[in-house]
Amino acid sequence: MSTAVENIAAGAPAEADHGRTERLLAAQQVKALSLRTSTAAERIEKIKRLRQAMFDRSEQIYKACHADFAKPAPEVDITEILPVVMEANHAIRHLKGWMKPERKRPTLLMFGTSAEVRNEPKGVCLIISPWNYPINLSFGPLISALAAGNTVILKPSEMTPHCAQLMDEIVADIFDEDEVAVVQGAVQTSQHLLGLHFDHIFFTGSPAVGKIVMRAAAEHLTSVTLELGGKSPVIVDKTADINKSAKNLAWGKFANNGQTCIAPDYMYVHTDILDSFVEAMRKAMTKLYGDQAQMASNGDYCRIVNDKHYARVKSLIDDATERGARVSMGGVEANNDNYIAPTLLTDVDHDARVLQEEIFGPVLPIIPFTDADRVIDQINAQPKPLALYVFARDKDFIDKVLSNTSAGGSCVNHSMVQFLHANLPFGGVNNSGLGNSHGHYGFKAFSHERAVVRERFSLSFLFLPPYKGFTRWFIKFATRWLV
Ligand code: NAD
Repeated sequence: MSTAVENIAAGAPAEADHGRTERLLAAQQVKALSLRTSTAAERIEKIKRLRQAMFDRSEQIYKACHADFAKPAPEVDITEILPVVMEANHAIRHLKGWMKPERKRPTLLMFGTSAEVRNEPKGVCLIISPWNYPINLSFGPLISALAAGNTVILKPSEMTPHCAQLMDEIVADIFDEDEVAVVQGAVQTSQHLLGLHFDHIFFTGSPAVGKIVMRAAAEHLTSVTLELGGKSPVIVDKTADINKSAKNLAWGKFANNGQTCIAPDYMYVHTDILDSFVEAMRKAMTKLYGDQAQMASNGDYCRIVNDKHYARVKSLIDDATERGARVSMGGVEANNDNYIAPTLLTDVDHDARVLQEEIFGPVLPIIPFTDADRVIDQINAQPKPLALYVFARDKDFIDKVLSNTSAGGSCVNHSMVQFLHANLPFGGVNNSGLGNSHGHYGFKAFSHERAVVRERFSLSFLFLPPYKGFTRWFIKFATRWLV
């Protein structure tokens, strides 16, 4: 069989052999039963193998990420290897505690019983991952699934075939395929997997495909974690530290070429500071990637993943400029290797596509504002975002924004770093996702919380029929006084 890389090169992504996928699933279903009693030490040993592979294979990871979208090696370290190692270290440190049954005090009604919540593995899990952080968003959830004692079939994105191939090799090297297996392929493979009966599906990708995943999961009543996307707004108040905000936002927006689910998508800037803020953004972008003439050859700036996405991002800029937007910096140059310069757009028409669709590229539209309430109303009129960032020194302004909006996660005076906080849940809300990942939250996503009550000397026999005399009185008493 040809590899995914060869197939992509030939213009058609390889689809998986359905027979092999079904055999893997059957083998994992058997294995999953035996993993129910797996110890913390056994799970940690698997996580350590994966962590070691991240170090042993780092050169190959750099190469694969570069081949797929010219991602610079230091950015691979920060955004692919570091988060996976961090997830592994956190799980290794805390797994024993996470696995301990959590004792619960009896309520009055349950007097005479003892109770606990036991985290049990869900069983056979399917992880479907996107292309934009191909290693991080595949191996991160894999660590949580292993910590929770599951078996896993992982389907990486076909859009980053070198990374998919490498992950396939790493997994085959360090795991038995009845524990963890990679199934490579594109939409057809994904849909075939979604038709099978898994115990949990962890999907990271677009809201549109998230809906397909949830519909398919409903067929088997399989639980899902959906890590989705959307348009993440930024609000920069007139009290913000202009230079620091611009510096943080330039990195948050243009790292990975803007192809980040939690990247600042569009930005409201208070009119009082608009000009100085745009100037500060220009300076910050030049500091990161050099003068505009040098940016295309700057090895720290990666590329749009493929021609299709290049054309999509270019069309967003063209549509905005046709409707009167000004390119304050950057813009489209000759189609050179899927390169679009870090781009700032001002005077953007409200109906421009760049303000309607998730941008997922190096383009940042700026909208001036004076009235924070109107901004909040506009944000609340959109689907709930995965991230919302607020930049201000005024604590009341910050509180007003946080209290009157909803988002998967937020940063105050920073962007993107919420992803790197191992003690925080990472996830969306409604259109931007369902459920959480990372650390203890990731462990819980792949665990079933099983309630266990142990009878000792409870009064439950007093509720039994015949419902007459004292029993009738006791039920009334309990309803009134014991609950
Ligand atoms: P995508 O939804 O197109 O693809 C994700 C996965 O789904 C891939 O493995 C793909 O093969 C599969 N897939 C695609 N179409 C399918 C279909 N019709 N049926 C079944 N499976 C299908 O997403 P993408 O382009 O890889 O990634 C970009 C999107 O992911 C953006 O919306 C971004 O915001 C989001 N994202 C979210 C997070 C997060 O953590 N919340 C992280 C990264 C990306």
